[in-house]
Amino acid sequence: MRLALHWQIFWGMLAGAILGVTLNLTASSRSVRIVDGLPGGLSVAEIDDTSGRAEIRLFRDGVLEESFVVDPADVKDGAFRSVDELRRQSPVAAEIYSQHGGSVALWTGAWLKRVGSLFLRMLQMVAVPLIITSLGAGILGLGDRAGVGGMFTRTLAYYAITSFLAILTGLLAVNVIRPGLRGAGAIGMGAAAGGVAVAPLQGQSPGLGTILFEQLEALIPSNPVAALAEPNFLSIIAFTIAIAIFALRIGGDTARRLQIAAQTGCDVMMAMTTAIIKLAPLGVFFLMAYVTATQGVNVFKSLAWYVVAVAVALAFHACVTLPLILRFVAKVNPREFARAMSPALLMAFSSASSNGTLPLTMSNVEKRAGISKRTGSFVLPLGATVNMDGTALYEVVAVLFIAQLHNGANLPLSAQVIVAITALLASVGAAGIPHAGLVMMVIILQAVGLPIEMQAIILAVDRVLDMARTAVNVWSDSCGCAVVERLSPPAELD
Ligand code: ASP
Repeated sequence: MRLALHWQIFWGMLAGAILGVTLNLTASSRSVRIVDGLPGGLSVAEIDDTSGRAEIRLFRDGVLEESFVVDPADVKDGAFRSVDELRRQSPVAAEIYSQHGGSVALWTGAWLKRVGSLFLRMLQMVAVPLIITSLGAGILGLGDRAGVGGMFTRTLAYYAITSFLAILTGLLAVNVIRPGLRGAGAIGMGAAAGGVAVAPLQGQSPGLGTILFEQLEALIPSNPVAALAEPNFLSIIAFTIAIAIFALRIGGDTARRLQIAAQTGCDVMMAMTTAIIKLAPLGVFFLMAYVTATQGVNVFKSLAWYVVAVAVALAFHACVTLPLILRFVAKVNPREFARAMSPALLMAFSSASSNGTLPLTMSNVEKRAGISKRTGSFVLPLGATVNMDGTALYEVVAVLFIAQLHNGANLPLSAQVIVAITALLASVGAAGIPHAGLVMMVIILQAVGLPIEMQAIILAVDRVLDMARTAVNVWSDSCGCAVVERLSPPAELD
């Protein structure tokens, strides 16, 4: 008998957490901070211990010159680094470590992270081709129907407005509930990338106008190939959309051939992603062990609050925002509409796949909710890829939660704006298959300089949140049909 994937992930998480917590309990609580490369060949090492005091050692060219004990509150510079990082970066640190005895948990943690990161690398590997092919196939699949300008514009406007409202709800929830600040406080994951790259964001805090203009610039990649290599998510999506739109404008064989190519690529990338996701239980095992070995059990406290934050925000969007739009814009009774769509919503919830649910969504919309075939077949297929309110909301909450955990504080507004914009695009680029949101999140984390290993923490609860956000995705697509139907002149619906 084979366990369902989400159970495998659950057991992987549990086993990893048990291993990690055990290692953590055996750990020495000593930590080392190093400031390297000071003028005159000087390096400073700060060694904390549980007594609340810190020892400072001064090295010149790697040779110990002086050592003294200080109050740790006086030491502000220097970033904590995990032991493997220390070995690579500083022989001085390695020397201190050998004198003081390295912590088993940190050393093992470094290897657990390395092995677990193989899984994350696979997610990174598929992210860009998956976005390009799934988005390309989605838009090109509209074919001639894109010529129906009015319906196209209304549909896109609906997608944009509801995704924006979903993101706003997510931002609000994560800033009010502050799930990442309720547990252990700041978690220095030992990844230099995080500390270094986030710091400038907080430090400089460029104005909102500058940030928005930078995003606008990213929409026009001066070198699309460089954008691919970087990868610059925003540029890639913008360029993909441009190619698809212009192929549709040329039409005929050109559009058809490109559509077949995109669809073929999309099928292959979806198959590859699904296979990679099957490795999630192993990935979760190693990454969870790493996180708990280096951070201890406190991580779980925050995790519960994180689930609450995502759930509350999703519930608000699905039960308040979208029903209000249904009632006042589409002039439809939300309760009855939800009842008509219930088979598709339940299917979305249990399969965690908008694409998998699409046939049922289309049939429910037409046969049970009385929407015209024209609207359903226009709004739903594109919506399954492009309009993911639940995913957008989830990305915002998840990334800001990780930032809270990592920095011990909320991201400044300017960085939150970047997260919101990238999350919107992540939801557009995400394929409608289980866990696709996770693949996209790697890119948002990179965009704001957070260490991707921290995804391990939320991986453990991703399946249940995926089910909920997929149901919201499908619910929003369905509501979109009602709205577009109401706003379209009857002639367009024939
Ligand atoms: N599973 C979601 C969907 O199919 C995508 C995601 O992972 O957020 O709609």
